[in-house]
Amino acid sequence: MPRVIVIGSGIGGLASAIRLSCKGYEVTVLEKNEGPGGKLGLIERSGYRFDTGPSLFTQPANLEELFELAGEPIHDYFRYRSVDVSCRYFYEDGKKIEAYTDRDAFASEMQRVTGEDPDHIRDYLSESERMYDDVGRIFLDYSLHNPSTWLHPRIFNALKRTGFSHVFHSLDRFNRERFRSPEAVQLFNRYATYNGSNPYKAPGMLSLIPHLEHNEGTFYPEGGMISIVDALHRLALKKGVEFRFGEKVEGINTENGRVTGVMAGGRLHPSDVVVSNVDVYYTYRDLLKDEKRAADVLKRERSSSALIFYWGIGRSFPELHLHNIFFSRDYAAEFSHLFDLKRPYPDPTVYINITSKMETGQAPEGAENWFVMLNAPAGDVMSNPEAVNQARENTLDKLERMLGRDIRPYIETEDILTPKGIERNTDSYLGSLYGTSSNSKWAAFLRHPNRRRSMRGLFFTGGSVHPGGGIPLCMKSARIVSDMLPSAPEWKP
Ligand SMILES: Cc1cc2nc3c(=O)[nH]c(=O)nc-3n(C[C@H](O)[C@H](O)[C@H](O)COP(=O)(O)OP(=O)(O)OC[C@H]3O[C@@H](n4cnc5c(N)ncnc54)[C@H](O)[C@@H]3O)c2cc1C
Repeated sequence: MPRVIVIGSGIGGLASAIRLSCKGYEVTVLEKNEGPGGKLGLIERSGYRFDTGPSLFTQPANLEELFELAGEPIHDYFRYRSVDVSCRYFYEDGKKIEAYTDRDAFASEMQRVTGEDPDHIRDYLSESERMYDDVGRIFLDYSLHNPSTWLHPRIFNALKRTGFSHVFHSLDRFNRERFRSPEAVQLFNRYATYNGSNPYKAPGMLSLIPHLEHNEGTFYPEGGMISIVDALHRLALKKGVEFRFGEKVEGINTENGRVTGVMAGGRLHPSDVVVSNVDVYYTYRDLLKDEKRAADVLKRERSSSALIFYWGIGRSFPELHLHNIFFSRDYAAEFSHLFDLKRPYPDPTVYINITSKMETGQAPEGAENWFVMLNAPAGDVMSNPEAVNQARENTLDKLERMLGRDIRPYIETEDILTPKGIERNTDSYLGSLYGTSSNSKWAAFLRHPNRRRSMRGLFFTGGSVHPGGGIPLCMKSARIVSDMLPSAPEWKP
């Protein structure tokens, strides 16, 4: 059997390992950490449970597909349910919006709170759906570096569907052309942060993202997000994948334009195929020792990072839901700080995720597990203790202002993850959440491909390569990699 080594057990690595073992390859995953999951980890503290990274679960179909392929009933591994409110939004002037996943209910809510014409909301979401189906699927489900993608008839639909403003206007301008109320513009601008981008620079094309939350829906995995990792890990084991944890890969060995294995623990692990789930910058710089290509990766702007406070809160806040956003007053200034000035913004948009709203066991009775996240510039600037302290105070002041109550006395446990910590835990360069940003109209075309044709047997998966970051896209990257390889019996060395 041809042998595959997957470096890293993030979502992309796990999904690639499962797919390739289903194709008959002998798969080993080498992971530097002591367990699987990468950015998606778990902190347990005095009865509080916190998912460390991703908190929003969309497109469960990607997971369903994987279990179907493996011939295993997903419900034996993983259960999830849909959530009827995708997010609760809070504005500094006291407005609150309940973002129902039901399109009509959401449109009525927007009219009630902001005066926005409900047809504007409905039309926007319909357009978002059409864009996702006709254009998004091409960008996200296929390799853009494969000629067959461009020769397929669906490309004509995509070109017909794409308007001038999707490509040449920023998402902010696109939204201002469609909504009257500043609240609606800010709410829909926020979707640029789904892949760590700036709505004032990223193209209107990102307007297809709300389709995921508002048309397809948002979901809650029972046991929290970590149950996604547990399910994929168990499925991989069931399919015969071997895992070696605490095994940092030091290099990818190559000979005559093809990979021959990887170096880890001071010895060669031979393999026919290597799939790197490591940030593509580090894959080139550290594993392939290819400074030039590493420098090329850095020509694209990095996505934003995050500063996260994991707070065990010793009381319940009925005014909060599973996902909550407290917007900054001046969104444009906030993004200018994040991407241009690369400095913390004193009035940050604050995102709070509380899984104890969904099920017991996530926090002690009567208490709540708050995952409090601020967008942060990629890099070190929000990692030093002074900056973290200042951001913490700004966040607490903002929440006191907007919730009408000081939450300081209720913080029973605290953990903090900085951009530096994200980088250290998962080797994600500068702590970027999603590899490169989409802050240019060509960004989707410029993400690193899922293979390097000049190096036979070398493939790339995960958030830093095509089609991008986020759990659904990492899973799609694994599918694209798997589609590039024949089934094991047809493998030719
Ligand atoms: C704070 C935060 C919030 C997020 N929110 C969301 C969200 O709400 N929804 C969503 O869909 N996505 C979200 N994301 C993004 C999502 O977490 C990622 O896109 C996804 O988990 C990344 O998976 P990946 O496959 O790129 O691998 P990663 O998680 O980056 O894992 C890479 C793995 O490779 C290992 N590794 C690195 N170098 C080596 C080496 N040399 N040898 C061996 N192993 C190595 C690392 O230890 C790590 O386990 C968020 C991310 C963060 C950090």
